[in-house]
Amino acid sequence: MSNSDASWGRTAPTNVTRATLRTEAGDGFAAVRSPNGLLPRGNGRSYGDSGLNDAGLLIDRRAGAAIHRFDPLTGLVEVDAGVLLPEIVRIAAPQGWFLPVTPGTQFVTMGGALANDVHGKNHHRRGTLGRAIESFTLHRSDRAEPLRCSRTTNADFFAATIGGLGLTGLVGRITLRLMPVSSLTIRETTLRFDRLADYFDAAEEADSRHEYAVAWIDSLASGDAFGRGHLIAGDHAPDGDRSGIARPALASVPFTPPISPLKGLALRAFNEMYFRKARAGTTRRDVPFDGFFYPLDRIGAWNRLYGPSGLHQHQSVVPAEVAPQAVRALMECARSHKQGSFLTVLKRFGALESPGLLSFPRPGYTLTLDFPHRGERTLRLLAELDRITVAAGGAVNPYKDARMSPETFAASFPNWERLERLRDPALMSDFWRRTAGQLRPSKSVTSAAA
Ligand SMILES: Cc1cc2nc3c(=O)[nH]c(=O)nc-3n(C[C@H](O)[C@H](O)[C@H](O)COP(=O)(O)OP(=O)(O)OC[C@H]3O[C@@H](n4cnc5c(N)ncnc54)[C@H](O)[C@@H]3O)c2cc1C
Repeated sequence: MSNSDASWGRTAPTNVTRATLRTEAGDGFAAVRSPNGLLPRGNGRSYGDSGLNDAGLLIDRRAGAAIHRFDPLTGLVEVDAGVLLPEIVRIAAPQGWFLPVTPGTQFVTMGGALANDVHGKNHHRRGTLGRAIESFTLHRSDRAEPLRCSRTTNADFFAATIGGLGLTGLVGRITLRLMPVSSLTIRETTLRFDRLADYFDAAEEADSRHEYAVAWIDSLASGDAFGRGHLIAGDHAPDGDRSGIARPALASVPFTPPISPLKGLALRAFNEMYFRKARAGTTRRDVPFDGFFYPLDRIGAWNRLYGPSGLHQHQSVVPAEVAPQAVRALMECARSHKQGSFLTVLKRFGALESPGLLSFPRPGYTLTLDFPHRGERTLRLLAELDRITVAAGGAVNPYKDARMSPETFAASFPNWERLERLRDPALMSDFWRRTAGQLRPSKSVTSAAA
């Protein structure tokens, strides 16, 4: 056991105790107990406290994780939950396969990606990662043998575990169906747009033409230029890289500066420069896959740039019918609170349904805003963003969150009680304790939630 770092946003507690457990080897987690509950740990890339259990124990799933089988004919791969995404890409890419869904960082485990049912820039074509999961094993504290879960076997645990925030048991081995690709090089098309309305005019067509599409927004531009940005679309190029090896980071932030440089004039200058980086109109070029999918991974430990108090990421999704007004309202709210978002990303989610009970993506538009944590001021802003989101019929992402209210959570995820019923009684997270645990203290939070 050891003490280690906290969540990616670094606003949550910094001392977490870990236990390493070789569940696959048979010494199941029935042997490990903590009065305040256990929680599986992936690679710690969740921003808030859904991956933390400050009063209890985190079970490290990385140690000894291996790839067990890869079939280059079908694209089926069987891996331990602790395997990192690049380990899969490295063996699959030379045979013409890639991850069907990948988040904006490659440094996540398959177990972590499954438990949060992650989405990528191709949600409009592929839905969430859960759609490509064929089956997995699930170790529970109340069962002697692991459960095999698929759409047809133990289907309730299959649905509850995908997007189940690590609360239904320890995922052991996962079988994933990869996606055939011509190469990993991405043919990128960038459309520079001058106002938010232009994005909404172009987004659906970009989705219909391209495998990938996402927009960067200059959240500081005002007046006629409000909501200007780049719509970046991409497809796998017919020829190109098949090594699947990402380039090393360009640099790494060696320490946490006492004051975050990501504010005021520096923030404005960055947005202006980035906006001008793309020429007016549409530009095309071929780019390496790591730069396209994982631009932030190019700077190691970039989260330290937010200073000692850390950062909050607010990710919302709102229905398409109200999105132009709701997205504008969310961005105007941040401006009126005088807190600029360093990185603002907007994306259309498609209609493909997630298999998970508590999956975040749903049809509509998703807006992601990053703020340095400035205490109460920032918390007030985030609560207001929640209010706008819920009033628009939308939802707030739990695995980016460190502070949403139980009411916001319940409005975002009306299915939460079904997950609570299937939660492993030995598992608990800080997030679950402060949201679901407050909604039904007598019934919903049992043995593990002190
Ligand atoms: C720069 C950056 C960009 C990102 N972009 C995206 C994006 O585009 N789309 C998106 O969806 N997400 C995105 N994320 C979030 C990230 O992809 C998810 O939080 C991911 O789930 C983290 O995986 P992890 O391995 O680090 O797991 P952790 O953060 O350690 O854990 C995540 C959850 O998985 C559970 N878990 C881990 N292992 C197991 C297991 N074996 N069994 C059961 N439960 C387990 C944990 O209990 C926890 O609840 C981004 C994060 C960063 C830092």
